[in-house]
Amino acid sequence: MADASTECNIKVLCRFRPLNQSEILRGDQFIPKFQGDDTVSVGGKSYAFDRVFPTNTTQEQVYNTYVLGGYNGTIFAYGQTASGKTHTMEGKLHDPHQMGIIPRIAEDIFNHIFAMDENLEFHIKVSYFEIYMDKIRDLLDVTKTNLAVHEDKNRVPFVKGCTERFVSSPDEVMDVIDEGKSNRHVAVTNMNEHSSRSHSIFLINIKQEHVETEQKLCGKLYLVDLAGSEKVSKTGAAGAVLDEAKNINKSLSALGNVISALAEGTKTHVPYRDSKMTRILQDSLGGNCRTTMFICCSPSSYNDAETKSTLMFGQRAK
Ligand code: ADP
Ligand code: MG
Repeated sequence: MADASTECNIKVLCRFRPLNQSEILRGDQFIPKFQGDDTVSVGGKSYAFDRVFPTNTTQEQVYNTYVLGGYNGTIFAYGQTASGKTHTMEGKLHDPHQMGIIPRIAEDIFNHIFAMDENLEFHIKVSYFEIYMDKIRDLLDVTKTNLAVHEDKNRVPFVKGCTERFVSSPDEVMDVIDEGKSNRHVAVTNMNEHSSRSHSIFLINIKQEHVETEQKLCGKLYLVDLAGSEKVSKTGAAGAVLDEAKNINKSLSALGNVISALAEGTKTHVPYRDSKMTRILQDSLGGNCRTTMFICCSPSSYNDAETKSTLMFGQRAK
């Protein structure tokens, strides 16, 4: 559990995936040059982060560097479609080597609990939803397609009516993710396209209570697999696809503005209200929390422009 004095900090970690088969067959160049463990240069320009993970970094190495600092905060994966966001956040859920951040966190949480004082009782619940065209869809109840953001009596925002599932083991967490993903498959015709245009958000809520003193501690962790950040011009979109692209662009800029205002630390106004996502995340980005942004990049010369724009986005948070 994070204690109340923990100051909010933002960490930006940059990860490059390896060239894939079609990039190799096309003869694409491998463009990043890694310098030390926190800098990468692309096209002669250097970008520094809290950490840069070269292509051969394993899921375990990424997780071990992340370091879970209490269960309050938000983890994002940002990047163009096919840059490795879902690989980083989820990976292969049931594969101990290939599983990503979310299943590793689930394991850590339960290991932590089993090692604790018998006088502590834990209640862990999870939710899973997505934001598509500014509408919140419950991935654990397909009938809920347009949920609203409300504030509780302490003015903490939450998604009203969103399904919450109590979980008592890492396997149960994995089951909930599988269930959400299969609901998502059923609801759309092209899952790959759809997941690249919506933000998917997995929420882990932890309550700890001492059985004698009744002292309570709460933690809330948002895990966000963002919509693809690519510019639409590349695909020459029109109509509905263009609307989707504008909407994604708007919500990603709103997120960038909030993160950079927090990173500067001097601004009194943080524009949380500019998008649904930043409203939901409001109390999990500022205050007593920790924000981690994974900046996911393709190493291919073909994606040069998108990679540079992704790296620039990450720099804004520094
Ligand atoms: P995104 O969610 O950003 O659209 P994915 O995570 O689905 O992208 O990754 C696209 C493909 O690349 C997937 O097949 C994934 O397994 C693979 N991939 C992504 N990152 C890595 C990595 N670091 N190492 C090996 N394969 C990766
Ligand atoms: Mg994805």
